[in-house]
Amino acid sequence: MSAEQFADRHIGPDPDDERRMLETVGYGSVDELMDAAIPEVIRWHGTLDLPAPAGEREALAELRALAARNTVAVSMIGLGYHGTHTPAVIRRNVLENPAWYTAYTPYQPEISQGRLEALLNFQTMVTDLTGLATANASMLDEGTAAAEAMTLARRASKSRSPVYVVDADALPQTIAVIASRAEPLGIDVRVLDLGAEELPGEFFGLHLQYPGASGAVRDHTALVEAAHAVGALVTVAADLLALTLLRPPGEIGVDIAAGTTQRFGVPMGFGGPHAGYLAVRAGLERMLPGRLVGVSRDADGNPAYRLALQTREQHIRREKATSNICTAQVLLAVMAGMYAVYHGPDGLRAIARRTHDMAARLAAGLRAGGVEVTDVAFFDTVTAVVPGRAAEVVAAAAERNVNLRLVDADRVGVSCDETTTGVHLRSVWAAFGVDGVDGDVDATLPVTLARTSDFLTHPVFRTHHSETAMLRYLRRLSDFDYALDRGMIPLGSCTMKLNATTEMEAITWPEFAHLHPFAPDAQTAGYRELIGQLEAWLAEVTGYDAVSVQPNAGSQGELAGLLAIRAYHRDRGAGHRDVCLIPSSAHGTNAASAVMAGMRVVVVACDADGNVDLVDLDAKIDKHRDALAAIMVTYPSTHGVYETGIASLCAKVHDAGGQVYVDGANLNALVGFAKPGKFGADVSHLNLHKTFCIPHGGGGPGVGPVAVRAHLAPFLPGDPLGAHVDGKPAISAARYGSAGILPIPWAYLRMMGAEGLTRATGVAVLAANYVAARLRNHFPVLYAGNKGLVAHECILDLRPLTKATGVSVDDVAKRLIDYGFHAPTMSFPVAGTLMVEPTESEDLAELDRFCDAMIAIRAEIDKVGSGEWPAGDNPLANAPHTAAMVSGDEWPHPYPRSVGAYPGTVDRMAKYWPPVRRIDGAYGDRNLVCSCPSPEAFES
Ligand SMILES: *Cc1c(COP(=O)(O)O)cnc(C)c1O
Repeated sequence: MSAEQFADRHIGPDPDDERRMLETVGYGSVDELMDAAIPEVIRWHGTLDLPAPAGEREALAELRALAARNTVAVSMIGLGYHGTHTPAVIRRNVLENPAWYTAYTPYQPEISQGRLEALLNFQTMVTDLTGLATANASMLDEGTAAAEAMTLARRASKSRSPVYVVDADALPQTIAVIASRAEPLGIDVRVLDLGAEELPGEFFGLHLQYPGASGAVRDHTALVEAAHAVGALVTVAADLLALTLLRPPGEIGVDIAAGTTQRFGVPMGFGGPHAGYLAVRAGLERMLPGRLVGVSRDADGNPAYRLALQTREQHIRREKATSNICTAQVLLAVMAGMYAVYHGPDGLRAIARRTHDMAARLAAGLRAGGVEVTDVAFFDTVTAVVPGRAAEVVAAAAERNVNLRLVDADRVGVSCDETTTGVHLRSVWAAFGVDGVDGDVDATLPVTLARTSDFLTHPVFRTHHSETAMLRYLRRLSDFDYALDRGMIPLGSCTMKLNATTEMEAITWPEFAHLHPFAPDAQTAGYRELIGQLEAWLAEVTGYDAVSVQPNAGSQGELAGLLAIRAYHRDRGAGHRDVCLIPSSAHGTNAASAVMAGMRVVVVACDADGNVDLVDLDAKIDKHRDALAAIMVTYPSTHGVYETGIASLCAKVHDAGGQVYVDGANLNALVGFAKPGKFGADVSHLNLHKTFCIPHGGGGPGVGPVAVRAHLAPFLPGDPLGAHVDGKPAISAARYGSAGILPIPWAYLRMMGAEGLTRATGVAVLAANYVAARLRNHFPVLYAGNKGLVAHECILDLRPLTKATGVSVDDVAKRLIDYGFHAPTMSFPVAGTLMVEPTESEDLAELDRFCDAMIAIRAEIDKVGSGEWPAGDNPLANAPHTAAMVSGDEWPHPYPRSVGAYPGTVDRMAKYWPPVRRIDGAYGDRNLVCSCPSPEAFES
């Protein structure tokens, strides 16, 4: 063992801890435990073929070498990706701060008020700038936001027409994503040059780009009226920076706005991650996909934030879901929202004006030099006409370290942004072969399209403009929240493991952060080598033949995998196969993705032990044999069990002509011990933000690569800029999706090596079985497999206790906050239960602290059961306890204040205080408020 073994840092328990845990579980070694837990039929006994593990310094040196093979050019390509200055105070205190990046999706709102407020700022920013009523808390990117807008329009439109009209001046990658999503749903996409071509007689929706990909700023009023006249809804994909100067879509009756907030301080990252946005007019808010933050009140009646209208989520709606988005882009939405908070409305307007001035100077210089510039109004992008010379001009600019957009043989697009300087303009002029006159020019935005309405009027956008104020605001919000930097987050299915600092280092290096996704290949060699290695390593780990990292969340990997299955059947003349079998225990995204892939969902029952009911499976296969497209199962199951029937399940489905999709979200229980691609599956998605250490960011970013066996490889996602040419689907707007965070899983795999990864899996399974063993006598463990063992997580059944005492799973989750913990996963996959996934990264002391807290809570439940504490007024019902509550002058409760605030062995020096009491979700849903409340709301 070298002096520096990263695996020893990543894995929490040391050899002594491990021995004690094994004793409790009743095994002599981790190998013995794994032999007993994992069914032999799926077991893989080899050693992963990965490079020998690198130490932390060595891995960083290799990343430096890869980074050095990327070229950071001045990007003036545009097409929805722009240079931006990330304020350093935001980069260091949000993007590089584990208090923000290691948090989970804010399902437990009492411990998430900081990021909920930050997301409410984001939503307010989007609604103010677009002029629409309600915005959600982020989408995966502009392309997928536009595709979701299309399906929303279809649901909301009264028109029965299958036709969706798309402006030919929309971003080409957006058109590709829209077309890929439309095809399986039977939507007929018509791309029209709306300046020249007539609208069809009937259509259900219209997609416009504002400003257009060419840079053109057009008045859309007449088109909006024409669309409304036939019952169609209108989506405008709008640039939020432009909207600080231009009349917002909401003011001309547009129904939906979609787009990206990337240029609000989020680096391009060779395609992502950054936060897409989606906003709707009044009346459509309940149809809006994705997560929505709203204002409600806590037990004292104080305003408090939480996720609103959660019954719309795919977890609940399953095959009735209208979108599969789950993990979104919270961290990047927080950054974009904070960019608006920091600059304020005047600052944003100034940035927009300067950007526009640069574009105006650029155009004036070109014209003065005799170059034709398309004669339309523009904001930041101009299209120059250079017959037959476009490639030459683009090459000449590249020689000057400036990337321009090659529109076609005759036209070049040039985009300005916050980072554009006079030096850049002179380089562009030189590339066109003109001298350029640099001087002041009149701004060219037409007065009729100018914005007259105010925006960002809420005090939060007018207060934190000094760096001191901003620093303290960020600190105040992050102090409200519980993230991995405070303690364990034992969320089943979510794999909240260590996000090592070394893994995070490279993502803010300019060579990874500042590349445009459409930069020429010659400038991205290092990135593409890193991605190639990562894909190869993931193929080795999973036993598949090919991997695509394009999907930017697990849900998107699911869609990509199902579309591959669909294309495969069609390719073999079996396009009629459209039934997707899904066990009743599946994650909600599975069914939602199947519907989006144009499949019919047929649910397969689970038996009393929680396994897929093989008798019911036989019956469903028999019934749908000729139409069977696929089965989608999670392995180990969402019940946290290694099902022994998996191999025969795969065989049965294959015999009937179907394909097997294994949801790889639980891969943390398999790495090094079993390979889905070898035990019978055809395709999986992985969640790099679970098993491979990308931090959850408070609800994104994520990466959900899709991995397939060779026969499905031809149907993997294609390049969205070429997708319509090669027939492959565009799953996200950029070829490599959220490329900017791929150095994280790369570093994890590089530093763990085969032995470290395998050990991590063993310790993750040991930890789950240790928790199960310690808690089994206090809470029944719902399901187990071989020899009573669980896989990497265990379900604690609270239903009998709830029935006997009235104490709910919610009460226990909130009481855990008083003990200093984030609750386990609540009521998934079984209502009334808690699912605990400790992961390999938590050491024995933290595991014990958690088990001790759960055991103490069990004793508290007994006091409620015995009547010692009244049912409605006890530490569980009143949890969580705030500092204000326990230090109040009145204390009417039948237990001491100290029992409320410092139960069990809570360390009084290290107490986490939630900022609000229990939040009333239903109240907020009845009184929906999804933008920043007025300050008066907080006056007591
Ligand atoms: C997390 C998860 C998903 C969805 O992945 P996202 O990245 O959130 O889209 C799907 N299936 C299972 C079992 C999961 O745990």
